[in-house]
Amino acid sequence: MKKTWPIENLDCPNCAAKLECALSSLEHVDAANVNFVNKTVSITVKEEVFAEVCQAVLAETARVEPEARIIIEEEHGHHHGGARPVVLYRVGAAAVLLAAGLLVKGWLGVVLFVLAYLAVGYDILLAAVRNIGRGQIFDENFLMAVASLGAMLMGEYAEGIAVLALYQVGEWFQERAVDKSRASIAALMDIRPDYANLLENGQAVKVAPDAVQVGQTILIRPGEKVPLDGVVMEGSSSLNTVALTGESLPRDVAEGDKVVSGSVNLSGLLTVQVTSAYGESTVAKILQLVEASGENKAKAEKFITRFARVYTPLVCLAAVLLAVIPPLFDGQWMMWLRRALTFLVISCPCALVISVPLTFFSGIGGASRKGILIKGANYMEALAGLKAVVFDKTGTLTQGSFSVTAVKPRGVAEAELLEMAALAESHSSHPIGKSVIAAYGKAVDHSRVADVTELAGQGLSALVDGRTVHVGNAKLMAGLGLTVDAAQETGTVVHMAVDGTYWGHLVIDDEVKPTAAAAVQGLKENGVSRLVMLTGDRQAVAQRIADQLGLTEVHAELLPEDKVHRLEALLGNGPVAFVGDGINDAPVLRRADVGIAMGGMGSDAAIEAADVVLMDDDPAKLPRAIGIARKTMGIVRQNIAFALGIKLAVMLMGALGVANMWIAVFADVGVAMLAILNAMRAMK
Ligand code: ADP
Ligand code: MG
Repeated sequence: MKKTWPIENLDCPNCAAKLECALSSLEHVDAANVNFVNKTVSITVKEEVFAEVCQAVLAETARVEPEARIIIEEEHGHHHGGARPVVLYRVGAAAVLLAAGLLVKGWLGVVLFVLAYLAVGYDILLAAVRNIGRGQIFDENFLMAVASLGAMLMGEYAEGIAVLALYQVGEWFQERAVDKSRASIAALMDIRPDYANLLENGQAVKVAPDAVQVGQTILIRPGEKVPLDGVVMEGSSSLNTVALTGESLPRDVAEGDKVVSGSVNLSGLLTVQVTSAYGESTVAKILQLVEASGENKAKAEKFITRFARVYTPLVCLAAVLLAVIPPLFDGQWMMWLRRALTFLVISCPCALVISVPLTFFSGIGGASRKGILIKGANYMEALAGLKAVVFDKTGTLTQGSFSVTAVKPRGVAEAELLEMAALAESHSSHPIGKSVIAAYGKAVDHSRVADVTELAGQGLSALVDGRTVHVGNAKLMAGLGLTVDAAQETGTVVHMAVDGTYWGHLVIDDEVKPTAAAAVQGLKENGVSRLVMLTGDRQAVAQRIADQLGLTEVHAELLPEDKVHRLEALLGNGPVAFVGDGINDAPVLRRADVGIAMGGMGSDAAIEAADVVLMDDDPAKLPRAIGIARKTMGIVRQNIAFALGIKLAVMLMGALGVANMWIAVFADVGVAMLAILNAMRAMK
């Protein structure tokens, strides 16, 4: 089982990484994840040891990060890090003491300086001492403590105090910036409904969405958010689904239509029967998914965490060398010591460690607003570098609903063929099945149908009125030992056999989606050079569509397992994406580097099997998703280069004596702030 808790007072991303590392290595813990951006901790453990592990997690957290607090009990209301605003008062107090110290000379002045120093930095000093006790020497507290103490001991009181003050204020700003970013990403994904109007005895009562049960009826007024998935019982309206799909065109609904939670009712009053509990609703699934996306870390993120672990000790070593070696030659011990201390101040890698996950999170948040759900930064990374995209045909490149253009019976009446086919398909969620049912046009009597078996990629078999019916492609018929009529028409052919006798076929007009060609073109422009279509349909149909769309390769008459083999052959030369509709193609979706499912709205299977979910069926979202991923990766790279560049420059200046400690802290805080602001661009 997996459990996620909020965590408070976890101020630095570095600490988050440390905690994650410590928790992962606890006994019985299968996986641990500390998400700095969401402020959550999650642990995967076996159910039977849960209570025991829970205790261990708390104990370990208290040991590694004493300030942090995991909130295991559900608590109401929001806590906000009350510790930080106090920092500003402390800085003020230190400034007063410092000024007083500068006025009075002699030992009293020194006392005032020391008081100012302690006022602004006692917590940093304490944390540094505690860390040494735990054997984790190299963290930013230690560095700041050593640098400022060094300055104090050298008699540079103002400098020592200012360094800590600037550091504290910088941290304060940084924290606020991260909080604000977090809040604006959350606002962006503000699809969470606040309440539902539950209808009881003709009265509407406002209740929390999760208090409503399946089968109950709710009222949705114009302007309100749809709180739960359901079916319209009464009324008609149009819904705005822009927050879910990024598509601003309103969707009309009337009696009998499905409504999806998270959309907004624009015009009419709707009475809706709820079809799934809040926890299972579309909106809850989307939110869970985006929130959990932080767990799939990108290589860039892992790199930064590892980098931070070696970077700080290396800088410390360099500082020691700088303090010891040059003065052996010129004897200027104090000068080189000061330079070395400046060096230490710059060695906090915070800007990087914060901005990289924040950039990914804001990119994922922005994409979700456009109807593109990305399940983790690793998929974002893969999307940005896609080399090949493999498409499923039916429902992906072609319309989900199309019409039957010909009915060609052999030895039976047309109506009889169509009725039999519709009955057999009556439970089918496959686009072909749906078109057959639509062409039949009448209500089907479900009691006549039994034993439906899907034969993935070929069709299905069912017992209709006690007779065995097979509906599907030529391969299926060949398997029954039947020869089929060659279809004259272009289009997808559905053959049918009853009790082992061939009954004829239907032809379905397989229309390409209007945006498919543009999407393929867009992918080519984005440097995706291999565009492959895999289908279970006939070669002739497949080739025609591939030509029409400008795909580079096509493989037809495949079973789902053949599709997996075809995909596997493509793997290994850069990331490969598979785009499907979640019907018959879950194995391929899972096997691809990036499994992309279309039409996630209302389809649990697609949301679960895929790595990226396009909330509506629009292929045009594909190049858009790649665009977002590229932009996000670009910002990540910018931030890494920028932060490292500035740090190296300031380090060099420090070593040469051009930059003093103040400038170093300033640069450090400034870089972090700019990197955070830059990260937010990924959302737009
Ligand atoms: P695609 O690979 O184009 O997405 P599928 O793998 O879902 O298509 O199905 C492959 C072929 O199997 C279809 O072209 C059709 O001939 C047949 N088939 C699949 N499901 C059904 C069904 N429910 N009814 C009739 N034929 C079906
Ligand atoms: Mg398909």
